[in-house]
Amino acid sequence: MSKTIIEVKNLFKKYGDFEAVKGISFDVKEGEIFGLLGPNGAGKSTTLEIIETLRTKTSGEIIVDGMDLDKLPNDIKKIIGVQLQTSGYYPGLNLVELLNLFAGLYNESIDPFALLDKVNLRDKAKSKFKEMSGGQKQRFSIATTLINKPKIIFLDEPTTGLDPQARRNLWELIKEIRSSGTTVIITTHYMDEAEVLCDRVAIIDSGKIIAIESPDQLIDDLVATGFERPKEVKKASLEDVFIKLTGHELRAD
Ligand code: ADP
Ligand code: MG
Repeated sequence: MSKTIIEVKNLFKKYGDFEAVKGISFDVKEGEIFGLLGPNGAGKSTTLEIIETLRTKTSGEIIVDGMDLDKLPNDIKKIIGVQLQTSGYYPGLNLVELLNLFAGLYNESIDPFALLDKVNLRDKAKSKFKEMSGGQKQRFSIATTLINKPKIIFLDEPTTGLDPQARRNLWELIKEIRSSGTTVIITTHYMDEAEVLCDRVAIIDSGKIIAIESPDQLIDDLVATGFERPKEVKKASLEDVFIKLTGHELRAD
């Protein structure tokens, strides 16, 4: 069993009288892709941003890589990678300039081209941020999470609004990041995404966790109850047809 890298115990968050997070607990293991899966408004971003030290909690305990969030928030910041809001990027700077700018803010020295290689954007090194497609912007924002060589990266709905090819490219990229030993915690409301990408998911609804398991186990458990899909399932979907026809492999999205 691998080591626990994030421990969340009995986390509550109130916005005024409204309780957005209602006593959730979960552990994230080192080296896994852990998903917070739930509908809009479930409390995913709130939970993520509290662990990222960007929002205050109402109560509960959070330990990140052995450090208590209440006592060592600045040390936690050093070992995590957070996606910056893409709206905060300077649209007129090119990708290398942006990476150098962010690296300066983190006080890190980086090789911008090596980072762009990791997210398959070296050929866009001199392109301005505003000139890129949605998928490219998301890949670039993932590159920015890697600047400080973090142990854990946090991705909040990284594929929302992307087309099927761009989503699959991003899934591959996230798996590569995990392969290099980085722990990934991701939020999504896409069930198919959680199923292919996450090692384990916490299903969250109205501020409560209702299940934590691997997607495989959750599906097997459901099947074991005698559940059957009402209709015969085809072996491919329209999305598979689309991907096959348009080809996602080396497409620059
Ligand atoms: P999710 O990311 O799962 O869509 P959020 O964590 O963004 O959910 O929001 C959870 C709930 O908390 C929602 O009902 C949302 O409207 C509410 N909420 C989020 N941020 C604030 C805030 N700053 N002030 C008041 N309510 C908020
Ligand atoms: Mg959200």
